[in-house]
Amino acid sequence: MKRIAIVGVGLIGGSFALALKANGFKGEIVGAGRSATRLQVAQDLGVIDRFETDLAEAVRGCELVLLAVPMGAMRSTLLALRSGLSDETIITDAGSVKGSFVADVRSVLANCARVVPGHPIAGTENSGVEAAFATLYQGRRVILTPLKESESSAVTAVQALWQQTGAQVECLAVEHHDRVLAATSHLPHLLAFSLVDTLTELQEREEIFRYAAGGFRDFSRIASSDPRMWRDISLANQEALLAVLGHFQANLSQLAESIRQRDGEAIEQRFQRAKLSRDGFC
Ligand code: NAD
Repeated sequence: MKRIAIVGVGLIGGSFALALKANGFKGEIVGAGRSATRLQVAQDLGVIDRFETDLAEAVRGCELVLLAVPMGAMRSTLLALRSGLSDETIITDAGSVKGSFVADVRSVLANCARVVPGHPIAGTENSGVEAAFATLYQGRRVILTPLKESESSAVTAVQALWQQTGAQVECLAVEHHDRVLAATSHLPHLLAFSLVDTLTELQEREEIFRYAAGGFRDFSRIASSDPRMWRDISLANQEALLAVLGHFQANLSQLAESIRQRDGEAIEQRFQRAKLSRDGFC
C-alpha cells in the first residue's frame, strides 16, 4: 500500500503505525484526529508521516483507513470522513466491540463491501500516543469479523497489514466476538474498577492501599485504564456484558453463602476448579 490513514493516533493506532514502520512498511502513514497539537506530538515521535484535522481530507487518496478512536466516537468519525472515501478505500477499525461498530458503519455507509471490522487483543492500561510502542502486537491475536458483503480482497489486505505488525489474525462472527470479549476482557475491567471503587469507599482505605501487596497490584492494574474508553465499551457491549455479569454475580453469591455456612469443602472445590482452569490456560 502507498498510503494509509489512522484516525485516532493513541496507544492502539500509534502502535499500529510504529509496528508497520518497524516491519518494513514503506507507504505514507497519515494521522488524523481532532487536535493538531496532539497530532504534532505523534509526528515528532516519528509515529506518523503527516497529519490532517479535516478527516475527509485525511482519508482522501488512502487505500486503507484504520479507525482507532473510542467506541462512542466511531459514528461521528465515520460521518466526518465519509466524503473523502472512494469506492476502493478499505475501512477497518480496532474497536473493542464489534456489534456497535457494525451498526455505526451500516448507518453511515450505503455500501459496506470494503468494510472489515477488527479488534487487536493487545493493549495496556496506558493511553495516548506516548504510550504506543512497535512490539505491542508481536505474537498477539487480532480478530477480524468480516461482514457477509465484505470483499475477500479487502479482508486479505487487512489481514496482511496486521500480520506485518507481528500479529496472528483470526476471524469470528460479530456476536461471537462480543460474547467472548465480554467474558475475557470487559468483565475483568468492570470488576477491577468496581473492586478499587469499593475499597475507596471504605473507612480504612488509607491502610488498605498502604498495605496492598502484589496480589492487589496484579488484580487492580487494569483499573488504571482510561475510564471514558471503558465507559464506552461497557455501553457498546451492554447485552453480552450484562449476561456474563449475571453469571458472575450468581457465582459470587454462592461463594458468599459457602463462607456464611462455613462450608470449607464447597469453597475449596470452587477455588480448585478455578486454579485448574487458570493453570491450564496460562
Ligand atoms: P487512546 O486514548 O490511547 O487513543 C484514542 C485516540 O482517539 C486519541 O488519539 C484521541 O485523541 C482520539 N479521540 C478520542 N476521542 C475522539 C473523538 N471524539 N473524535 C476523534 N478522535 C478522538 O485509546 P486506545 O487505547 O488507543 O483505544 C482506541 C480504540 O482501540 C478504542 O476503540 C478501544 O476500544 C480499542 N482498543 C483498546 C485497547 C486497549 O487496551 N487500550 C485494546 C484493543 C482495542
